[in-house]
Amino acid sequence: MLKLTNLTVNYGKFEALRDISLNVEQGELVVLLGANGAGKSTLFKAISGLVKPVKGEYLFNGNKVIGVSPDKMVASGVVQCAEGRMLFPQMSVYENLKMGGFVHRKDKNGMKKSLEEVYDLFPILRDKKDDPAGSLSGGQQQMVAIGRALMAKPKLLMLDEPSLGLAPLIVEQMFGIIKQINENGVTVLLAEQNASAALSISTRGYVIESGKIVMSGSKEELFNNDEIRKAYIGA
Ligand code: ATP
Repeated sequence: MLKLTNLTVNYGKFEALRDISLNVEQGELVVLLGANGAGKSTLFKAISGLVKPVKGEYLFNGNKVIGVSPDKMVASGVVQCAEGRMLFPQMSVYENLKMGGFVHRKDKNGMKKSLEEVYDLFPILRDKKDDPAGSLSGGQQQMVAIGRALMAKPKLLMLDEPSLGLAPLIVEQMFGIIKQINENGVTVLLAEQNASAALSISTRGYVIESGKIVMSGSKEELFNNDEIRKAYIGA
């Protein structure tokens, strides 16, 4: 579904990503592990079309998509849920979710159906649909952010640090929901620092350090690697 070959991204003279090669097959849940500043968000921005690589090849469903605009990438099914949630705090939960559904702008029933699917996945959002998004707890706000991304009918959903700032119990719940989204048929690329929880729901993963992929493997290979354990799992 997604195939990157030798992707390189610069910010001015700074090389933020260097020769990134990575693939995600339909139906997979692939984890991208990396510390702060490793380049995870930049990689997501490149995949979304928000930053343009200076080098490399990028295929989505077999089509060359380097230079394709972010709105066209969303329309083709590449949807990102950015780090930090980026909600409109004074607007209601419903209005925030609706923003993600612009792909349905000519199809009221499609919008309604997507909304119901999001409310079924996160029943608490149905109860709080008229509340300002900013009044919700951190975990509930993360649900709105993921729900808004789902409103765009992703084929590939990219989640950037969904566990950031959440209490351990909520993190566990969040990863359960991400697994469910994947089982419902959405391919997921998940960037995380919380390696243990992320790997446990994944099929396989990549490790990014200083803008380079330094390791890749199955969930078991990464779990059992001493360096990964020391750097990202802490045991
Ligand atoms: P975090 O989780 O902290 O966001 P990350 O792995 O997502 O980390 P990026 O945000 O992709 O990392 O940043 C990768 C590198 O690129 C960092 O050194 C960062 O300082 C730099 N960087 C990010 N955005 C810009 C920018 N717009 N201009 C210049 N440098 C940038």
